[in-house]
Amino acid sequence: MIILTDFSDNLVALYEYMPGRALVVDPPDAASVLRALDTHQLELTTILVTHHHGDHVGGIPGLKHETGCTVLGSDAARIPEMDQVVTEEQAIQLGPATIETLETPGHTRTEVCYYRVPGAGETSGLLWAGDTLFVGGCGRLFEGTAEQMYDAFQKLKALPDDTQVYCGHEYTVENYQFALTIEPDNQAIQDALTAARAALAQGHPTVPSTIGKEKETNLFMRASSVEEFARLRQRKDRF
Ligand SMILES: [Zn+2]
Repeated sequence: MIILTDFSDNLVALYEYMPGRALVVDPPDAASVLRALDTHQLELTTILVTHHHGDHVGGIPGLKHETGCTVLGSDAARIPEMDQVVTEEQAIQLGPATIETLETPGHTRTEVCYYRVPGAGETSGLLWAGDTLFVGGCGRLFEGTAEQMYDAFQKLKALPDDTQVYCGHEYTVENYQFALTIEPDNQAIQDALTAARAALAQGHPTVPSTIGKEKETNLFMRASSVEEFARLRQRKDRF
């Protein structure tokens, strides 16, 4: 996985799903993706879109024009230049890669995450969680309810613990700082904050996490009821 970080705080995953062929998730602009394709000698065949916000779709027209790639997403009315509507019922097949769509409304009402099922000889799957699940946190509720987002988190929680988690923004340090205002003595979160700061200081993004690590260090993952989840989300909105 190649993670492009040359945007404000968007984390953009460029994934070589078979030799020489790549997909990109939620490109904010085309130029840096095109540069990376050139550097790594990859052909872009596919764009996967988690939701319609401008900082996740801005690169679509330019990339489609330059590469002729196919655009997949859940919201044809609001995502530009879409070719194919994804649904939870139908998996996406790209060469040897099987990718499932998980409908996870909350941040937006048509939000989805993508789960790359482990391939032959691979032990762990990959999750592109968009602005639903962040490392140590959770997306804002712009269009959906706390109940919908809680349900989305239960869906993600059901994935295998070793699933590698990639998310849409580098909010990790702030998320752990918030979590420590709720649970100041939580050693696992303190350690995760230290590790996140160290990674960033070396110029590395804080992804991937894993579902297992999120279950341990993400208060939203650990919330045991919609009410607890909603309370956390409200406190985070004011943080
Ligand atoms: Zn968004």
